[in-house]
Amino acid sequence: MPALDDVLSEKIGKLKESKRFRSLVTATPAQGVRIKVEGKEYVSFASNDYLGLASHPDVVLAAAAVEGQHGAGASRLVTGNHPAYGALEAALAEAKGKEAALVFGSGYLANLGVIQALAGRGDAIFADKLIHACMLDGARLSGAELFRYPHNDYAALENLLHKHRGQFRHAWIVTETIFSMDGDRADIPRLRGLADVHEAWAYADDAHGLGDEDASALDVYIGTLSKSFGGYGGYVAGSRTLIDYITTTARPLIFATGLPANTMAGNLAALKAMQEEPWRRQRVMERARQFCAEMGLAAPESVIVPLVLGSEDAVLKAHAFLKERGFWVSAIRPPTVPEGTARLRFSFSALHSEAEVSALAKAVRECVA
Ligand SMILES: *Cc1c(COP(=O)(O)O)cnc(C)c1O
Repeated sequence: MPALDDVLSEKIGKLKESKRFRSLVTATPAQGVRIKVEGKEYVSFASNDYLGLASHPDVVLAAAAVEGQHGAGASRLVTGNHPAYGALEAALAEAKGKEAALVFGSGYLANLGVIQALAGRGDAIFADKLIHACMLDGARLSGAELFRYPHNDYAALENLLHKHRGQFRHAWIVTETIFSMDGDRADIPRLRGLADVHEAWAYADDAHGLGDEDASALDVYIGTLSKSFGGYGGYVAGSRTLIDYITTTARPLIFATGLPANTMAGNLAALKAMQEEPWRRQRVMERARQFCAEMGLAAPESVIVPLVLGSEDAVLKAHAFLKERGFWVSAIRPPTVPEGTARLRFSFSALHSEAEVSALAKAVRECVA
């Protein structure tokens, strides 16, 4: 029998050969959008803290002000349902115009748990080719038949629905509102129309929304508290009945411990800040637009801007070049994105200055010239 470490070393060797090996980098948050890595400071364009709420004084204070104990101590269905959950869920439901909301340990767990709870054998899931790994995992665990349509190709989706919908009991259309690695958007009203015609339910993950995404056309709305909220956790919003059903069936909710109360208090303060300081949303979109204009790229649909370079090698070289200039950007490679579409991914923050964005654009132009 071979030693486990030998087997794994061989696999790691192959991943390194194809430039797909990843390892953890310790990054310490510094002032605003800066991070410190191995003693050097960088301006980060790789954070999902789009609105700068992770360091908002009200959010930090609210999280620190919760007294008592640190961890929740149990699953929410046992004794882990701290009152901070109720306050946060009521506010989230109201913000999304839905009857109820339910918070999970993370956005990943929300998608995993909700899809698995809602769909089952004999059902069909029609999903965009580019949906996030956690929705795919949920679909696989659900036992439903999974059909993928080419990214945002609604004619192809309609064909699939025509061809297959009839053979299944229930059907779901599953998408992201804003696609995480491309920064483009789904056409939710159009998906709603298709869902109505073909008797399907509409499900969307709004992980990269800035808190202003309209949830009214969706049967199931998923959000994360880890990105624009600058905190941690995920949630689902929908009808009271939907939430009651998910509460009693979603495995990541039943079999995992609740989040610490201070995380919930921070999330609630972040929601307030989001609503009271709309300049944050405007500012971050301005920065993304500025970058695209200076790069000669099409106007952005969100605060995520990809620059597809193709090969893993090109992306790693560009990453190193920009790092040398003091910028931290994401080098995104397969299997996160399809073969041959390795890319730099820039994400902007309300805390980036105009000068920082200009300096980045200049460096990127130099690097890919
Ligand atoms: C980041 C992300 C998630 C996971 O959310 P977490 O709260 O970080 O677990 C889910 N869906 C999409 C589309 C994401 O980009």
